[in-house]
Amino acid sequence: MSNTATIKDQIKKLVDIQTMDLEIYRLKSELKEKPIEVEGLKAEFEAKKTGLKVLEDKLKALMLKQKEYEGDLKVKEEAITKADGHLSQLKTNKEYSAKLLEIESIKADKSMAEEKILIGFDQMDEARKAMEAEKVVVANYERDFQSKKKVIDDILALADDQLKVKQSQRDRLTPDVRPDILSRYDRLVQNKDGLGIVPVKNQTCQGCYMHLTEQAMNKIKINEELMSCDMCARILYFEEEL
Ligand SMILES: [Zn+2]
Repeated sequence: MSNTATIKDQIKKLVDIQTMDLEIYRLKSELKEKPIEVEGLKAEFEAKKTGLKVLEDKLKALMLKQKEYEGDLKVKEEAITKADGHLSQLKTNKEYSAKLLEIESIKADKSMAEEKILIGFDQMDEARKAMEAEKVVVANYERDFQSKKKVIDDILALADDQLKVKQSQRDRLTPDVRPDILSRYDRLVQNKDGLGIVPVKNQTCQGCYMHLTEQAMNKIKINEELMSCDMCARILYFEEEL
């Protein structure tokens, strides 16, 4: 077998491997990038949940405050009942007038407590509405997140499966390539975005689009040795020469 035939044969094999490798490269990128996409969506969803938690805490705080106001009102009511009970026991007009004043004062405090309770009810009502509305938003968000995640999980499972197939298909081709050629090609694939061997079209490297000299073109055509692009170092070939 002449060297020309050998090189040509090796190039054909590399081109077949390259077809697999491009697919492998694409699948690996997908397997790397899609989970990051899921993380992003999850972070957005978590942020929404935190927002809801803030509204829930606000409502809880208002409810606690309301309990406080109600306790305060009860104290005032009891004080009024107690003071009212004292009235009948008082002997002098002075004492009686003083007690009446005291009762009026407690009643004023009681009114204030009632007012606070009414305002509290409005605030709680508002906070509850905001919370309920946000709950719906978060529920929708969760549904949306879960369905997007499902789509991505399915893509990942499929990509994983396809990757295994492609890799085993590739493994069947590599023993036919000379180890020195294969390792040169593999290094290029590693370092040049998955592209180690590219065709020449319109006297241009299809990896980096550098224009090739006539001399380089002739060398590639005769297939006596593996030719590399001076610019990107990828192995070059003519599709029509294979
Ligand atoms: Zn190039």
